[in-house]
Amino acid sequence: MNAEIISVGTELVLGQVTNTNAPLLAQKLATLDIEAPYQVTVMDDAQQIGAAIKTAQQRAELIFVCGGLGPTTDDVTITSTATALGVPLATDEQHWAWIKETFKQRQIEMPTENIQQARYLGGGVALANPVGLALGSWYDHAGQVVVVLPGPPAEFKAMVNQSLMPRLQARYGQGRQIVSRTLNFLGRPESQLMDEIEEATKQFSSMTVTSYVQPSQIQVRINVYDLPQPAATKLLDQVTAAILAVERPFYFGTGDQCSLAQVVVEQLTKQQQTITGAESLTGGLFQSTLCSVPGASNVFAGGFVTYAARAKEQLIGVDQSIIDQYGVVSSQTAAQMAEKSREKLDADFGVSFTGVAGPDALEGQPAGTVWLGLAQRNQPVQTKELHLAAYIGRQAIRNLSVQYGLQMVYQALQR
Ligand code: ATP
Repeated sequence: MNAEIISVGTELVLGQVTNTNAPLLAQKLATLDIEAPYQVTVMDDAQQIGAAIKTAQQRAELIFVCGGLGPTTDDVTITSTATALGVPLATDEQHWAWIKETFKQRQIEMPTENIQQARYLGGGVALANPVGLALGSWYDHAGQVVVVLPGPPAEFKAMVNQSLMPRLQARYGQGRQIVSRTLNFLGRPESQLMDEIEEATKQFSSMTVTSYVQPSQIQVRINVYDLPQPAATKLLDQVTAAILAVERPFYFGTGDQCSLAQVVVEQLTKQQQTITGAESLTGGLFQSTLCSVPGASNVFAGGFVTYAARAKEQLIGVDQSIIDQYGVVSSQTAAQMAEKSREKLDADFGVSFTGVAGPDALEGQPAGTVWLGLAQRNQPVQTKELHLAAYIGRQAIRNLSVQYGLQMVYQALQR
């Protein structure tokens, strides 16, 4: 089965924005054994969109037109697609009433052009947008399906997962069956992880293992092909067990949407433990990451952002003599930050971050040198030194530090 993905957006053509929607969709299609060998990008231009659709009609059974569903005059995707297909536009009156209600509730005057976001391809079906205003469209004619999707990545992803995939599954799922499971890892270089996994899973057939590097984790996807449901699950379980027999120390959870912060908050909640943070180079990012998880208030009451040495002394009570003797980027300072912040808030865990985000060196230590501290009630304080690559840049160093701090907590919770 051949699909074609047409991405619409002048900023995509000009290279101002990286196209993340098309790869996401291609990955989803692959799980249904649908390939998209042609992926084109056109400007927000009626003629270009029309021409791309006409070309796609010659070579694909499934055509996606993505982006340009906003209410402004440069958003011409839905009208151009309707024109190219020779179908009228329909209005979803219920959705239109909801858009109007949404503007009223926000006390914003609504431009009349917003009705465009309640329109879909006549004779087709409107696709719900779980996180935005514009509807998508599914138009099925003479064995060829045309799907229109919104551009903003969050809306795109939500519509693909919640509105599109169930339809695709129902329509094309009878082809090759692929059942997948995603395992998440942190702390192992991808090549080493995958070499070890290849070795550990070489006795299995009817399956593949692929990896996907994300900024904060490595996702390893196990794909099982052409097995009926109970056998597919059994094989997924066996392959998972074989992988975890080797890689358990670096594993933290299962699922595409799984994040270490979420897992840590869930486990702290389950074990009725609380946590605080004392942050220097991460400047509150650890605490913000915890708070991004719903239910964080069960485990997190507050914490400290202590960027300068003086703040470490005044707010947390780190001994000046420790900083003078060992420096701020040191195991000793990290240990005191973790323990003293934990004591101050009477939390079960205190996690500290002190290091060099870069680009400049600090105290003779290069960017990427980070000390993490983990204080746990009734346990000796642990510290850990990271040597992150300076070239990944300041933000990535801060983000990864947070993830490694979360991993220390996760590992302590496993014990
Ligand atoms: P809007 O009302 O914002 O115009 P829209 O549905 O018309 O909504 P677009 O104009 O296509 O959406 O894009 C909205 C935002 O999403 C823009 O910032 C755009 O750069 C971004 N975007 C669009 N398509 C993609 C894509 N394929 N990958 C990544 N970002 C994208």
